[in-house]
Amino acid sequence: MKNIVLFGPPGAGKGTQAEFLKTKFNLFHISTGDVFRFNIKNSTPLGLLAKSFMDKGDLVPDEVTINMLNEVVRNNLDSNGFIFDGFPRTNNQAEALDKLMAENDSTISAMIALEVDDEVLISRLLERGKTSGRVDDSTKDIIQNRISEYYKKTAILKNFYTKKNRYFGVNGEGSVKVITDRLSSVIESL
Ligand code: AMP
Repeated sequence: MKNIVLFGPPGAGKGTQAEFLKTKFNLFHISTGDVFRFNIKNSTPLGLLAKSFMDKGDLVPDEVTINMLNEVVRNNLDSNGFIFDGFPRTNNQAEALDKLMAENDSTISAMIALEVDDEVLISRLLERGKTSGRVDDSTKDIIQNRISEYYKKTAILKNFYTKKNRYFGVNGEGSVKVITDRLSSVIESL
């Protein structure tokens, strides 16, 4: 079972790349952002709670996010492996993910990070905001807050996986196809 954490700041291209990689490597794709947006669309209690954080560009609290992620994984244990997109985003989440994998006699094979300059992230997200309809893509202030949440709470996870020799950085700038090839080479090497 290959379990991949696709990592990087907002706008790095995790969602775009996960779409290609899930088909290529037959992995079950879990985007925590997509699960939250699905819940918001359907006005579930989880959606209502998540929306208040997401619209400001803040992270949703760990307990809520971890419980949701655990449930999605447990419902899909017959898959060939997982590609986590947007999870973990905090130290608590990374520890919870390790625990969940261990419970299922599995492990995270690699964290693969898409490395992209901040200016490129901001312009990509503002561009996406023209069509995505996402409140959190709509203003530069909210986008900056998402990037700042990433540096405050998420970027440290590089150390978490580096210590386990599971961290791989990939240049996330260039054409979508070239970046898919870079990511694929890492996955094939695992
Ligand atoms: P994304 O679609 O990955 O850009 O996530 C959009 C928003 O959903 C984030 O800005 C957070 O508010 C929330 N979110 C997604 N994943 C997580 C997570 N692992 N932990 C906390 N909040 C999350």
